[in-house]
Amino acid sequence: MRPPVLNPLFAALSALPGIGPKLEKLFGHLLVGGDGRPRVVDLLFHLPTGFVDRRNQPKLSEVVPDTVVTVAVTVERHRPPPPNRPRAPYNIDTYDDTNTLMITYFNARRDYLEKLYPEGALRYVSGTATLYDGHLQMLHPDRVVDEAGFATLPLIDPIYPLTEGLHPNQVRKAIDAALDRLPGLPEWQDTAWLKRNDYPSFGDALRVLHRPATPVDIEPGSAAWSRLAYDELLASQLALALLRAHMRTRAGRGSAAEGLLRARIVEALPYALTPSQTRAVADIVADLAQPSRMLRLLQGDVGSGKTVVALLAAAHVIEAGRQAAFMAPTEILARQHFATIAPLAKAAGLRLAILTGRERGRERDDILAALAAGDIDLVVGTHALFQENVAFRDLALAIVDEQHRFGVHQRLALAHKGEAVDLLVLTATPIPRTLVLTYFGDMDISELREKPAGRQKIDTRAVPLDRLAEVIDAVARALDAGRRVYWVCPLVEESESVDLAAAEERYKALQKRFGKTVDLVHGRMRGPDKDRAMERFARGETRLLVATTVIEVGVDVPEASVMVIEHAERFGLAQLHQLRGRIGRGAERSTCILLYKAPLGPTAKARLAVLRETEDGFRIAEEDLKLRGEGDVLGTRQSGEPGFRIARLEFHAKLLGAARDDATLILTRDPKLKSPRGEALRDLLYLFARDEAIRLLDAG
Ligand code: ADP
Ligand code: MG
Repeated sequence: MRPPVLNPLFAALSALPGIGPKLEKLFGHLLVGGDGRPRVVDLLFHLPTGFVDRRNQPKLSEVVPDTVVTVAVTVERHRPPPPNRPRAPYNIDTYDDTNTLMITYFNARRDYLEKLYPEGALRYVSGTATLYDGHLQMLHPDRVVDEAGFATLPLIDPIYPLTEGLHPNQVRKAIDAALDRLPGLPEWQDTAWLKRNDYPSFGDALRVLHRPATPVDIEPGSAAWSRLAYDELLASQLALALLRAHMRTRAGRGSAAEGLLRARIVEALPYALTPSQTRAVADIVADLAQPSRMLRLLQGDVGSGKTVVALLAAAHVIEAGRQAAFMAPTEILARQHFATIAPLAKAAGLRLAILTGRERGRERDDILAALAAGDIDLVVGTHALFQENVAFRDLALAIVDEQHRFGVHQRLALAHKGEAVDLLVLTATPIPRTLVLTYFGDMDISELREKPAGRQKIDTRAVPLDRLAEVIDAVARALDAGRRVYWVCPLVEESESVDLAAAEERYKALQKRFGKTVDLVHGRMRGPDKDRAMERFARGETRLLVATTVIEVGVDVPEASVMVIEHAERFGLAQLHQLRGRIGRGAERSTCILLYKAPLGPTAKARLAVLRETEDGFRIAEEDLKLRGEGDVLGTRQSGEPGFRIARLEFHAKLLGAARDDATLILTRDPKLKSPRGEALRDLLYLFARDEAIRLLDAG
């Protein structure tokens, strides 16, 4: 149960004065990505990204054109547009004792302006002054206030990210209303630590950031911002520590096996394991044999061969007479893992099944019964695996692929399907060390550093979109040479249908030229259709596959050796790297063409340059962190797992270690969060949406 003191913060935004359903919806787009209702706390955590400095208050004669000024003027007269030209500008002449200023509006309502600027009255107006025909002019001032309003005019005026249809004044008003409802909360941070860092209280930090007194206040390094960032990092570290403690208290069970099953699989492989695959398998098997619980991250760049390592891990527990589950984030991936594993499972005598949302009715019942009876050794699937009615006879190992797409509670749900289930997490996004800590806590890590032998460097080029015709000719040559080609179109969630239309159009155009060998696959397709399209491409029945980013993760067609990425400038670096990782898997030399729309912004330019330079996923991840900052290196934007809202690791990474130590110390002293500080920390977990962890505490 959420502590009642937090209720005003968790109320829907429409509880604030002046916010009706329409505004609430707009705020929803801005704050929670459109789905779900925004709450007061979401608004309070919507921090300014900059400010307008209204401290410059010159006399009119001293105004420097094209700067923001706040001036005191007397209203002389209104000059509305003549009746026969209603679209002409509405001018208001004003003056001070040094010069005149013309204030201009387009499409303004006359009665509104007459009220705002009574003739003869003194007004303070703030905005950008320009020179027009040698006269000072201000177009649509940002702020117009009288004497009383001027006394409270914020001189450092925060700028907030907006969404279409939402006016800055509406955001400002809503935030003021939210700040007024901010309850006093008990302090959850260590007071000595606060003092040493000169950190304000949680409430004061929010007030300072939304009503800054100086520009320094709203820099990420300010005391106020750092305080909130530390709050957020502590919440996340505390949640991870609780999760870990919870997993560890349920002691593990060792699985004993000689390795016969593994040997049979290795024998059936058409290749030899790389040294780092061998090492990773050895690490994992050693963990599995231990009675303590395994929490291990297998980190390896795209194409480094994680799947087979996972299968060998599964083989160990299966040889011990137990079961394993392999969970993939998408239907396509689950089917692909299944297809990869099936022949090996057959060779080794493993009983394999697949379970996704698509297995229904009788088929599904049979699989569920077999899992419960222990007649299936290894099940591959999607999140359908952790639904309630799925039960195992003796689940020993849960393997989770592409971890960051799953949330903490999903990890838990799967781990709870057996007694002390060992957990192996595969991640293809090479994650910098700091982020591993942040997102996974201190898990053990195995790395696949080298790629399988025989891989060649991918030739990566950036080409402007106006050379599309040349690129299509190059694709024609590649197809003539018998190669297989991916053509990736961007899919930006905000307007999925528009993007989809773009992909369909590209598909039609390419089909016109290349005929039946072209196919299309996108996220809106029904599962079986998607599979069939992928299969046709894998078998070489189609050889040019137009795709949206559904192919981003994991899809493995070693024969594909050309990739065109359209509007490459719209993708993040990590995402481009993931996409490109789909090629360069066979013996053939591969080519990746990054089609971009010129001109490129500096960040996009840097991104494409990094990509041309290197294929080293670790380096790319580091560069990505530098270029983008934020928590979205992990692609959290697309996933359900919220990243950080306030902490920005390029500024606050140093606080991370402190937060981790703090979390450990807190739980050593007060493992159930029962002390007064512990109670306050529960508030903190709620505020930063880490309250999942509280349920672990209360579950005992
Ligand atoms: P990822 O780590 O991206 O999940 P996969 O497990 O899909 O990589 O493997 C990528 C490709 O490399 C697959 O076609 C797989 O069969 C192949 N592969 C894996 N290990 C080796 C190896 N040691 N030698 C050669 N090919 C390998
Ligand atoms: Mg994979």
